[in-house]
Amino acid sequence: MSDRHRFQLRRMLVRATPAALIAPWLAPHARAQALPATPACGPDTAPTASQAEGPYYSRRSPQRSSLLEPGISGERLVLGGKVLSTDCKPIADVLLDFWQADAQGEYDNQGYRLRGHVLTDAEGRYRLETIIPGLYPGRTRHIHVKVQPPGGRVLTTQLYFPSEAGNRRDSIYSPALEVAMQRGPESAQAAFDFVLRRA
Ligand code: FE
Repeated sequence: MSDRHRFQLRRMLVRATPAALIAPWLAPHARAQALPATPACGPDTAPTASQAEGPYYSRRSPQRSSLLEPGISGERLVLGGKVLSTDCKPIADVLLDFWQADAQGEYDNQGYRLRGHVLTDAEGRYRLETIIPGLYPGRTRHIHVKVQPPGGRVLTTQLYFPSEAGNRRDSIYSPALEVAMQRGPESAQAAFDFVLRRA
């Protein structure tokens, strides 16, 4: 085969291979290297579903990339991903306001423990250091979030964890809102991409 043919064949293969087939999350061994966010964005990607705010949201959370502070116990978690439009373009300056229970399943309704917001960067990326939330009666493990693009509507939703026994029993739980998880030596890592309907 000539170099020219080889080149053409390579181009054809690259073009013909659906993204899903080369997506690292289909190969368990590759998963450890590149933790994918869910869901992947593509032509048929639906916007991230909204979910109930619940009773524990507090306005005006502090802007901070880490919710870790003295006195907070629990397994460390780094949550990150992107905010994309339905045509898969990253959205910068999106405000993501997180709130969650502590390791004992308690919310801080007086102050801002385990509450805070971050902004996406120019590539639409966000990152938050926190802990894996504890369980409280009636719910599976989850993190609440409000996602607000500049000048756009707020998406209120919740993120869930894979392989949780409580997922089956929680009527609000949605598999589409599960993070991709990976456990590292110092912290767990969770990835989730939010997809927002274009304004
Ligand atoms: Fe909750």
